[in-house]
Amino acid sequence: MTQPLSFAVIGHPVAHSRSPQIHTAFAAQFGIALVYERIDSPEADFEVAVERFFGQSGSGLNVTVPFKERAWQMASARLSARARDAGAVNTLWLDDGQLHGCNTDGVGLVNDLIRLDMPVKGARVLMVGAGGAARGVLGPLLKAGVAHIHVVNRNTARAQSLLDAWVLAHPQDTDKLQAGGFDQVANLAEPDLIINATSSSLQNEELPLPASVFGSQVCAYDMMYGDQPTAFMQQAQQAGSHQVADGLGMLVGQASESFLIWHGCQPNIEPVITQIRAQIKASVR
Ligand code: NDP
Repeated sequence: MTQPLSFAVIGHPVAHSRSPQIHTAFAAQFGIALVYERIDSPEADFEVAVERFFGQSGSGLNVTVPFKERAWQMASARLSARARDAGAVNTLWLDDGQLHGCNTDGVGLVNDLIRLDMPVKGARVLMVGAGGAARGVLGPLLKAGVAHIHVVNRNTARAQSLLDAWVLAHPQDTDKLQAGGFDQVANLAEPDLIINATSSSLQNEELPLPASVFGSQVCAYDMMYGDQPTAFMQQAQQAGSHQVADGLGMLVGQASESFLIWHGCQPNIEPVITQIRAQIKASVR
């Protein structure tokens, strides 16, 4: 009898990860037999754990906090263009015995925005946050045709260095990007889309944005997700945004891109979003 293919998500901590349920649901759509586990790796042991996994015939690994940059280093000789731009890897696999890496977070976000009918092509985007998630989505947003991205961050220097690094590598995008602090937001032209790429909602905190920025034509997307609308979604709704969404579709979307890399087929994410949403709600009852 053939063994089922072996996959896992590696992180620290990782107990909260929904990836096993997501990939199991995707596999069921195609009748693929797989096992998908969680590997909680001590910080010091990440590289050893990755080598052990693939040494024991593992087929693919998802990588989560805090290891995405170290996964990028491990696969640095064979990175996809998305991973090179993002400076972080969330998907690893072996090809001809060599470790390959990709980053599917950004394309997961873009596909979710399109699914939700939120503005992408030609859109003016206000992106709040300048951490790993913000960096990972810049390239896919620009590739999808957004007109302009203004990055603001609590630590303004971090927003500026994110932008400087991007423009150095992609000088053709210079006119499409700006960076600064929250103090500039009141003077900005109204964006079409505000993306919260910070962890503020994790702390249940609103962002220091003026209510005037959330005009009635503005969509608001929080990368965070939970059993209730996030603090940012509530803030946007109360200030008048006409459509708000959380990042569960991004999570399932990035997983579907990993699945495509590993199995060569693209799952239908809609029923899986519904399933995981129900599981999240049930787990807090
Ligand atoms: P990082 O730790 O790399 O960056 C955190 C960012 O949040 C920084 O810009 C930081 O600002 C900012 N921040 C934190 N707390 C606050 C606050 N109270 N007010 C304003 N800004 C704040 O995290 P990541 O970039 O990796 O992740 C950011 C978020 O995106 C997380 O919530 C994560 O769960 C989510 N995410 C969701 C994904 C999905 O699939 N749905 C995928 C990846 C990430 P400063 O620099 O000033 O400290």
